Amino acid sequence: MRSPRWPLWGALLLLVGALLTVLVFLAAEYEVGRDQAALDQDTQAVAGEIRSGLLRNVQTLQSLHAFSPSPRSWDAPAAEVLTQRREIVRLEWRDNNLRLLTHRLSPYTPDVFDMLPRGQALPEVRQACDVARRQSGPAYSSSYFWPMRDGRGMEVMELCLPVTETGKPRGYLIATYSLQGMLSELTDMPAQRGRGLSFIEVDGTRLAVHSMLNDPRRTLRSQALLDLPGHTLLLQIESPRRAMGLFPNVLTAVVGALSLALLVVLYLLARDTRRRQRAEQRAAEALAFRKAMEDSLVTGLRARDMTGRITYVNPAFCQMVGLSTEQLVGTGLPAPWWPPELVDEYQQRQAVRLAGQTLPREGYESVFQRSDGTRFPVLIIEAPLIDAQGVQTGYMSAIIDLTEQRRVEDLNRASQDKLQATARLATVGEMATLISHELNQPLAAIASYASGTLNLLQHDAAVPSSDIEGAIRRIAEQADRAGRVIRSVADFVRRRDQVRESVAPSQLIDGIATLLSLQAKKQGIRLVLDVAAGTPHVHCDRTMVEQVLLNLARNGMQAMPLGDPPTASGLRTLRVAVAPAPGPQAAAAGWVRFDVIDHGQGLPPEVAERMFTPFFTTKADGMGLGLSLCRTVVEQHGGALSYEPEPPRGTRFSFTLPAVDAQAPVTSAQEAGAAAAAA
Ligand code: ADP
Repeated sequence: MRSPRWPLWGALLLLVGALLTVLVFLAAEYEVGRDQAALDQDTQAVAGEIRSGLLRNVQTLQSLHAFSPSPRSWDAPAAEVLTQRREIVRLEWRDNNLRLLTHRLSPYTPDVFDMLPRGQALPEVRQACDVARRQSGPAYSSSYFWPMRDGRGMEVMELCLPVTETGKPRGYLIATYSLQGMLSELTDMPAQRGRGLSFIEVDGTRLAVHSMLNDPRRTLRSQALLDLPGHTLLLQIESPRRAMGLFPNVLTAVVGALSLALLVVLYLLARDTRRRQRAEQRAAEALAFRKAMEDSLVTGLRARDMTGRITYVNPAFCQMVGLSTEQLVGTGLPAPWWPPELVDEYQQRQAVRLAGQTLPREGYESVFQRSDGTRFPVLIIEAPLIDAQGVQTGYMSAIIDLTEQRRVEDLNRASQDKLQATARLATVGEMATLISHELNQPLAAIASYASGTLNLLQHDAAVPSSDIEGAIRRIAEQADRAGRVIRSVADFVRRRDQVRESVAPSQLIDGIATLLSLQAKKQGIRLVLDVAAGTPHVHCDRTMVEQVLLNLARNGMQAMPLGDPPTASGLRTLRVAVAPAPGPQAAAAGWVRFDVIDHGQGLPPEVAERMFTPFFTTKADGMGLGLSLCRTVVEQHGGALSYEPEPPRGTRFSFTLPAVDAQAPVTSAQEAGAAAAAA
């Protein structure tokens, strides 16, 4: 069964994807948070720098009044301070009522107060000095925008520092700070390169900008309060966000790589499992196929180990011997199917086999006993059982039950015999007509000799005894002739047991000569019987071979009805010839060849094709068994039956029989036909 795996894989991929995304997001957030914290720290540090810069400035400014200067002598050191402190755009010394005693402008921005009179800034100055007086220390005004020429302007802030001389107030020192100057002069500029540095209002409006970043979206922002006496400024530092890679840090990259590796491993595992499953399925199928095959076999299969113990049997074998698999597997020798009286013989056979002798490939026949005690013949084909390492672990045997085969063989043999007997009777029936015709002659002769002799004896008392003797000898001769005819038929009809014996070919010819000559004479055919000198005896069933010769000769004569071929042609001859021949097999003893040659109408192809088929005949009174029987008989003897056209017309039927080793005494060629030749 196949479960749908793709949804699971999809879910897994989705989960790993989500995990990676969250991981990357969290890592990015972490990085941003860390950058933000670092920036916050920097901002605090920058605010601290500015604060300490301002404090230093206060000390420097206080030192201007350390030696009780006059407004005139104050000027030079004030100019000096302004040169060194670019963030201060103007220094003023005012009396206790904030009236201006003297002032000095920064050399760097001399035109600050060109457009508007300084008086406009007095409210801020006053505000700062009020605080300063109250706190008896430096105080700052709130920042304000001071416009300049050409549309310029700057954000400035006043510092008011009360001045005392020997404990008495001597007015105020007012320093006007440029906020932008404070940013550029009081901070460590190289450290802030690439950052946006500005003072802002609470609502985010920039008061003074030292530097700015272009893309406000990709910017980290940090603010710090710069708490000064009298006023508080808000410092802002902007820093560009670092561009993040897909995997912002090593940890994410490692986790990402591990997740991917996990996915790959999972995939490989799944593939391996799938392959394994497929292999298992294939193995299971192969096993099922093998089992089905073994179960459906009618051949019994049996495996034994090297000691003869049964390790496997198939159902066919169990059925054969009538025992179950459980009863068989594990049993040793003697085997439960051995007939008790044959146990000794089988033990010996087993011992020979276990001794490692080669097993016959064609197998050997044996007899087994079923569980009910009945015996049955089997054919055992055994082969060594070799395992995967090439070591022999036992024997595998295929056992074929021969019971049915034997039954069919017996049946065949019986029906063959019956068939032959039937054919024989048919032949005999036909012969009977001929014989009765033939017997008429001697019987008529006997009758006429007998009545002639009687007449002589009755009417002529002085009959010479030589006449009577002659007549009686004729009668005896004719009676003998009639007896021979009848004997030949009796000999032929008598069914003898099928025994093969050594027979001289001339004997075979003699056996049928009388019967053949009868028919030949009737049809006006010259019968030539020819046994070549030196032809050996043949090993055969005499009756059967005579039957074959008779059948072939009869067929030959039937192929030559009266008038075809005409007597004048000289072709009305049937020749039966026997001679030594090279046989179908190269046997030491050689072969004897029998030829039956007629000059009849020959064999049309459609007849030749079917004439060996039982019951095929072209004759009105034919049985159609002759040729098929002939062939069976010849083949049973190991020979072969063939035919070929015989020029100028007719057919030659030939068959071979095995010769007997011992040469038969030479029989001269005989022309038995001389007697039967048409007069
Ligand atoms: P049957 O003689 O009873 O017909 P056979 O099996 O002996 O049966 O012969 C089968 C047929 O073969 C015959 O009917 C005949 O047509 C043909 N045949 C056999 N021998 C010859 C022969 N010598 N010449 C011509 N035809 C033959």
